[in-house]
Amino acid sequence: MKIKTLFALLVVATSCAGSENNSSIASVGCDLGEAIQGRALKIATTVAPITSIVANIAGGSSAIITGIVPEGTNSHTFEPRPSDAATLEAADIIFINGLVLEEPTKDLALANIRQGSSVCELGNEILPESEYIFDFSFPKEGGKPNPHLWTNPPMAKQYAQVVRDVLVRRDPMNVAIYEENFSAFSLKIDTLDNAIKIASATIPEGQRKLLTYHDAYAYFAVNYGFDVIGSIQPSSFDEPTPKEIGELISQVKSQKVRAIFGSEVFPSTVLEQIGAETGVRYVDVLRDDDLIGEPGDAEHSWLALMRFNFVTIVEALGGDASALKSLDVRDVVKDEAKYPQ
Ligand SMILES: [Zn+2]
Repeated sequence: MKIKTLFALLVVATSCAGSENNSSIASVGCDLGEAIQGRALKIATTVAPITSIVANIAGGSSAIITGIVPEGTNSHTFEPRPSDAATLEAADIIFINGLVLEEPTKDLALANIRQGSSVCELGNEILPESEYIFDFSFPKEGGKPNPHLWTNPPMAKQYAQVVRDVLVRRDPMNVAIYEENFSAFSLKIDTLDNAIKIASATIPEGQRKLLTYHDAYAYFAVNYGFDVIGSIQPSSFDEPTPKEIGELISQVKSQKVRAIFGSEVFPSTVLEQIGAETGVRYVDVLRDDDLIGEPGDAEHSWLALMRFNFVTIVEALGGDASALKSLDVRDVVKDEAKYPQ
């Protein structure tokens, strides 16, 4: 009888600890979670650029990475599938962009996370609230700051640094690999950063103006001296109203914008309309979080995605992108079989 009572108490205590962990907001934090021993670290990520950054740090280790958000989908409105719950439950660490980009995935992660695992919001980790950018597509009253930090290479490097720190702490067996990969990757980001500065300087000063459909270059623009004169996509992700299109057309004419940039993930006839009414060229191939090619391709990487976008921007604005074209954009360790993206 006594033994049975004790057993019942133990069961209650264990299940309490479990449910406390499931609902606890304390699971969100890059400095949380236990170190694992004697097995492979399981990592879950969300959008492809973040998967690629994590894969650059983890490449060649025993860690296993699973990306949740399929490439080419709207990451801002993505709803995880019920089957993603199993991936999130199995993960030791879940890297998300944060800044309110992937709330449904974060909620599913927190509902399924195991004790000892954690969710690391990279954007929240590196960007103080005072530096959040709010704008037309991400208005302050909507409560969602512009989350596109990964299109600004120095911020992506900070993401990589957080990833390195987390992996070193959670997976002590592979510390040397994580450290070495970070050194190599940060060197590649510094080289990319330098090439963007050289290429941007070739754009005549008055032409460094960005009018994009999807508003993915706010932090990039501040860093490299571009002026975001507007973005076309409203915060609802619907098409803009005729009044808003009219205002953009006047802005394009008055500011003498050289080109308008659309996104492959968000095809829209609005660009064509603005282009036709202003005579300004539109380029609709920017890729905000959809990597180039297929997993296994040399250019299926965050680095190649950045190079493609910045070459496109620089050339459309009348600059010389040759500094960017000569970059080596392959991942630090190419290991796509182990790190499908
Ligand atoms: Zn986006």
